[in-house]
Amino acid sequence: MPRRVLESGRMHPAIPQLVELQRLDQTIASLRADLEGLPKRQRAADAKLNGARAAVAAAKEAHTQALTQRKKLELDVEQWKERAKKYRGQSSSVKTNEAYKALQQEIAHAESEASLAEDRVLEQMMAVEEIERRVKRLEAELKEAEQGVAAEKKQLEAQFAEEKKNWIAMTAERAEIEKKVPEELRDLYSRIAKKHPGSVMAEARGEQCRGCGMRVLPHTLQLLLSETDEEVFRCEGCGRILYSLEPIPHARKEAANGASQP
Ligand SMILES: [Zn+2]
Repeated sequence: MPRRVLESGRMHPAIPQLVELQRLDQTIASLRADLEGLPKRQRAADAKLNGARAAVAAAKEAHTQALTQRKKLELDVEQWKERAKKYRGQSSSVKTNEAYKALQQEIAHAESEASLAEDRVLEQMMAVEEIERRVKRLEAELKEAEQGVAAEKKQLEAQFAEEKKNWIAMTAERAEIEKKVPEELRDLYSRIAKKHPGSVMAEARGEQCRGCGMRVLPHTLQLLLSETDEEVFRCEGCGRILYSLEPIPHARKEAANGASQP
């Protein structure tokens, strides 16, 4: 569309520059929005690791608790063994058969409890190993996720650098084009841009302003295609600067010639 404007000779001479200015303003605004969105996208990438990090932390906590439990069970074994040893030490000093028999029962009970406690220690050791494997697996998964996120962030940074380069180039290009626009039109453009950012210029097509839909009078349409640098025409509805790409009846022949060029 802007190219057709630039090729058309019949309009206010500043219109092609103004339309180009608008095209650049739209691209610059979209690039800036993208650039401003980068920190949010980086945070979103980081947030993908939250679940994996929490899983590792939970598994490590379970590991600590399992070790504490194993120590407690090992202490049980020690205590039952101590008790059996203490009873055995007493067996030489008992006076009666009954007391001896009772002591033997206590020894048997303590030994049996020690054996049961040893079984529980073994079970707990297996549980600890199981949790250790889980911690290792979750840590490996986290590492993999971290590598994925690092690659994603690197790609984001490359994209950011490219967009920033484009933004700088387009801003410079815009400044060059702006220089060609007469000062009063530059001011007018800036004023309208405050109300309609990125949409200062409106095509008059089908006798309508494409910015707001208001009817454009045929007389104004004729004036839009006249080569005068005295004034530009603004839509009475929205105040945008109007331009026309449509041939009006008397200009149709020339426009057709223009369109037939490759
Ligand atoms: Zn309008």
